Amino acid sequence: MKYPRSSDTIYDVAIIGAGFSGVAVAYHLARRAAQHSQSLSCLVFEPRERIGAGVAYQTQSSAHILNVPAGRMSVDESDPQSFLRWLINNGHAYSENDFVPRPLYQAYLSEIFNELKNDSPDFSLEVIAEHASALEHDESAYEVKNAAGASHRARNVILAVGNSPASGEADIDSSLKSPWDQSAIDSCASDSKVAVIGSGLSAVDTILALEAASFKGHYTLISRRGLLPQPHGTHGHIETTTQTAADLVSARPTIAEMLHEFRGAIEQGVAWRDLIDALRPSTQKIWNRLPSRSKRSFIRHLRPFWDSHRHRVPVESLSVLLDLKQNGRLTSIKGRVLSHAKSSAGVTLTVQTRGRASTTRFDSVFDCRGLWTDLRASRCSLLDSIIRSGTAHYDELALGLRTDKNGKLLSAKGTPLAIYTLGSLRRGELWETTAVREIRTQARLIAESILPEQQPQRKVGNS
Ligand SMILES: Cc1cc2nc3c(=O)[nH]c(=O)nc-3n(C[C@H](O)[C@H](O)[C@H](O)COP(=O)(O)OP(=O)(O)OC[C@H]3O[C@@H](n4cnc5c(N)ncnc54)[C@H](O)[C@@H]3O)c2cc1C
Repeated sequence: MKYPRSSDTIYDVAIIGAGFSGVAVAYHLARRAAQHSQSLSCLVFEPRERIGAGVAYQTQSSAHILNVPAGRMSVDESDPQSFLRWLINNGHAYSENDFVPRPLYQAYLSEIFNELKNDSPDFSLEVIAEHASALEHDESAYEVKNAAGASHRARNVILAVGNSPASGEADIDSSLKSPWDQSAIDSCASDSKVAVIGSGLSAVDTILALEAASFKGHYTLISRRGLLPQPHGTHGHIETTTQTAADLVSARPTIAEMLHEFRGAIEQGVAWRDLIDALRPSTQKIWNRLPSRSKRSFIRHLRPFWDSHRHRVPVESLSVLLDLKQNGRLTSIKGRVLSHAKSSAGVTLTVQTRGRASTTRFDSVFDCRGLWTDLRASRCSLLDSIIRSGTAHYDELALGLRTDKNGKLLSAKGTPLAIYTLGSLRRGELWETTAVREIRTQARLIAESILPEQQPQRKVGNS
């Protein structure tokens, strides 16, 4: 790791966060700089020890596997075999349809990042193991500050801060355990009573990690709708489905009309997985043209159903949960957690089910409620600083920030700034924006915006 230059240095780019998004942006900037023979200096802020880990790939448990097959996880859409090649070159015998342990994906991202440092003399990449706490601007550059007030300057800033506040700013109440904390998993006594709030991907992860740690106790899964993620599975006639989806999109229906069409298509034999997958290239377009009222209503009423069908898990992961249910070790409750309280004997949860509240004691409770649904509730000091200074603005649903099509934040007057974001902070505007497939495209667009095609110089003089 190189040591950052003096405080007078103005970097071309500061990347805040080096989970998947930060690595993908660094990768695309390096490629673009090399293609156009341009020089570029980047400074990356990342307090976590491991580059590429972020929230999703920080796990060190091989029980946690990717939800997407290896052949679709390349950092570069123009080189789709990149991850698979890395696996094979490193002695991991997987094929493109395999679901690979997530720690291997972090190792792939980390190696890509490290190689960028030696890629070209014109591209420099420095890492500072710090948490960025504030962002300010003077006449010539942005100043990224840490908690102690020390600052580094850059002409462009990329907010690649992802799904949750960085370590040190945990938003989770201390009586609830984090699904991503291996010591929380290890601290559960083998025959204890565990509650899991939420029943999505992180709930599945928590249970898989506990099972891998030889937990033999009981799980209570609490979620409003009691929906588990659907498994990946067989597909039908993708061409017919793509046409059905294209017809749906061009007809510009309301959500209710779309649901009606969906049901009709499924009744006629179209596979629901194909329908959802065929919609994916158009999801952002559909979302974009919905009125805010419909977006809010979708989030309130349909989101759990959308999430459980759209964000699917490998069959093997789900069958662990179904077996536990069958063996009486897992109970699923449809309900709302009203409150929780720590006691010497564990944590008590008050849960409302069918209008009645009841209180139960658990030895441990894991908070698996997933992504923010309201950015205003986040306790991220960096986001707070740019919102309070009036630099950035929430999108209309406050799921993320207002951006232009390249991910540039917009000022109050709608002027694009030299601050970019990608991934979950664009959820309000794009909805479908949290997976590798969408983020890598956003990373490429950011690189193209920072390093635009250079126009050939026009000849001046007599001719
Ligand atoms: C459990 C899980 C599994 C997933 N599996 C898949 C999958 O199989 N396939 C797929 O396509 N997608 C998957 N996803 C989606 C996932 O969101 C993306 O793949 C991707 O990891 C998002 O990366 P990110 O860098 O945007 O965010 P994050 O992973 O959240 O990383 C953000 C990084 O920014 C750093 N940071 C935050 N704030 C600051 C700050 N102020 N200063 C400095 N650094 C900061 C954090 O430390 C962190 O390292 C999964 C998501 C989760 C949660």
